[in-house]
This record gives sequence, structure tokens and C-alpha cells, in this order.
Amino acid sequence: MSEKDHKPATKLVEAGRRKEWTSAPGQKGGVVNPPVWRSSTHLYEDTADLAKGRPNADGHFYYGRRGGPTQWALADALTELEPGADGTELFPSGVAAIGCTLMALLAPGDELLFTDNAYEPTRSIAMGMLERFGISARPFDPLDPDGLAAMIGNRTRAVLLESPGSLTMEVCDVPALAEVAREKNLVSIIDNTWASPLGFPALQHGCDVSIMSLTKHVGGHSDLMMGSVSARKPLIGRIRQHSQYMGQVVSPDDAALALRGLRTMQVRLDRTTSSALEISKWLESREEVSAVLCPMLPGAPGHELWKRDFAGGCGLFSFIFRDADKSSRARFIDELDLFGIGFSWGGYESLIIPVDPGRIRDHHEWPPGIDSGCGLGVRLAIGLEDSQDLIADLERGFAAMRD
Ligand SMILES: *Cc1c(COP(=O)(O)O)cnc(C)c1O
Repeated sequence: MSEKDHKPATKLVEAGRRKEWTSAPGQKGGVVNPPVWRSSTHLYEDTADLAKGRPNADGHFYYGRRGGPTQWALADALTELEPGADGTELFPSGVAAIGCTLMALLAPGDELLFTDNAYEPTRSIAMGMLERFGISARPFDPLDPDGLAAMIGNRTRAVLLESPGSLTMEVCDVPALAEVAREKNLVSIIDNTWASPLGFPALQHGCDVSIMSLTKHVGGHSDLMMGSVSARKPLIGRIRQHSQYMGQVVSPDDAALALRGLRTMQVRLDRTTSSALEISKWLESREEVSAVLCPMLPGAPGHELWKRDFAGGCGLFSFIFRDADKSSRARFIDELDLFGIGFSWGGYESLIIPVDPGRIRDHHEWPPGIDSGCGLGVRLAIGLEDSQDLIADLERGFAAMRD
């Protein structure tokens, strides 16, 4: 059985722990984890070695900006987890990964089509930063593959997907959208942060480039910012080159934290997925709630596509109040003890934020095609607490709304 045949949970444990990164020359055995190699200067054997140069790929000492064994071990592990990828580049944040990928793959005069339910900073990069470089960008309706096909013009170069969408959580038909892109020779890029390759092996589903904010599930402990891009050749080479132009590096200390988080990612995702499902079923039964936007929940928008394409979920979902105003919603949120108010997600602790994404959507009403109640919602990130305690906390929140 080759390593490639291992299931994802086994890969999570084994990946990136190459002998040359976990042992010292001349020593038998080694340590479990690749140590933290803090370095800027990498030393050469002699002038002949210096003159020979080093290949521009992970695994070759050159200079700190190209990383060292700790960062290589993380990149190697992420490549192994994304079937079909030839390499992974690390970035100091998820947003840096998105921005650098777009700059690497687009040129002045090109057009990007991006999903209307994209993460808000992605929309800002597309409509703001790219425009300054003569690259135009338009949002497309993620639930309408024919509409995407109709928008493609002769300047269109790339399509940027995200599924489920940020805040509104609609699952789109990624294989169909990626196929539309492939037929027109466009690069398809997906922000795969929600599912990770454990839940959605994006390249196997037809995408060319898979981006993750490692700040979320991989870090897993709310103490680190990082992003990654995994892709096939030759795209990964272009992204790597651009990343080096822009001097993108991550510290070995952060890489070691990300590797530590990676090892437990499957158990954390399994646990937060089952808690999220339990809590979303409970929310669905509450009269205060008009819609639960959780792809894992049978009957929720996108559930059928989720069941068809995804191998797992996570703890992040939204719900909408039937009858609330901003002040009763604020009472609900402020009453909660176990849900911190804050951005990000994927940590061990539960979080909540109010969401009103209507203003950042061009195509459809929020939420699409279901009873939208009063339109006011919250996004929950379910952590590793006992789900019954979380439900009791939410129940107190609903009671506070009536006060
Ligand atoms: C958080 C997030 C990002 C950005 O990642 P950072 O590491 O915070 O820069 C990108 N995409 C999605 C879907 C996210 O939730």
C-alpha cells in the first residue's frame, strides 16, 4: 500500500514527517515532529557549491525567504492532502494567498469572474486592487452555471469559486462551474477554507487551484494567521514565482503551530460537524428561527449538493430570525456566555457574529429561495464545547430577545 492510498485521517498523521526533516545526520531514529528551524542565512559548503546554485523548490537550502524544513514539511503535508496537487505555497494569511494567486494568474486587460457569495475581502481585492492594475472583475450567480457560461468573454481568464458561500452558506455545483471554466480554457480557483480537502478534494472535483485560510481549521486554536495555495503544474510554478517576487514568507514557529493543528484536524472537524448538525436541528425547531443555513442539515439550501460532493462538514453555519430587529438580535448575542463575539472561525471555541450580507450581494436576495424571515441573521462557529451546553446558552439568548 503506497502512501498515496492512505485515507485522509492517516495522511494527516503521516504527512510532512520526512526522515530528513525529523532526524539528525549520523543519528539513528529521530523525533516525531519536524523541529522549528529559525533561519535567514543558509550556508553553502564551499564556493563551488555556491556557484552551482540550488533548485527553486522546497527541500533545498538557499535563503530564508524560500523557507526551511519546518515550512517545507507543512507545504509537503498540504500537497499530500490535496489529491492532484503538485505543490503548495504558504502565505502569511488567507487573504495574502488569494491576492497573490490572482496577481500571479491575471494580467492587465484580463477579466476575473468571481462568485457573488465570496468572502468579503475577496470581493474587495477583485473590485478594488485588481482594477488598479487594469484587471476587471464581475460577480456571477453561483447557483446558475448557464449564467456563468453566458458571462464569459474573450478577456475572461479565471473564475473564482467558494462553496459554501461566506455568510449565506449556499452550496454551488462546483464540478459544473469548473467544467464551464475548463471548456473555455479558464483557470478555476476555489477558496476551499470551509471544507478543506478533507471535506472537499477540490482538484479532484475539477478545480485547478485550491486556496485555504489555514488560520481557520488547520491552525484550529485561534493563535495563528496563515494561508495556502495548492495546485498542479505549471500553475503552482507561476504562483510560487509571484509569491517570491512579493517576498511572501511564513515564520517557522507559525509553520510548526500549523503542523500541530493539522494532526488533529479530522477529529476536530468530525466533532464540530456533529455538534453543528445537532444544534442546527434544534434551531430549526425554534419558532424564533425562520431558516437555518447549514449545508449538513437535511432540507437546508444546498444540502443535496453537499451530500453529493462533500465528504464532511464543519462547525460554521448561519441562521435567520423570523421576527427580530437589530436590538433584539443584539440582546440575543450579548446574552451568550459560551459564544465569543469575533471574526474568524475554526478554533476550539465557539463564536458568533451578526450577518446582513444583502449589501454585498449583486445577484440574489439573501437568503436565496427560502423564507427569509426578517432578513437579520447570525453566523455561528461551533467549537469543541459540549453541544448541550451550547444549546442551553442559545436558549438563554432567545429568552433575552423577549425581554
Ligand atoms: C477567513 C477567511 C479567509 C481569509 O483568511 P485570513 O487567514 O483571515 O486572511 C478567506 N476565505 C474565507 C472563506 C475565510 O473565511
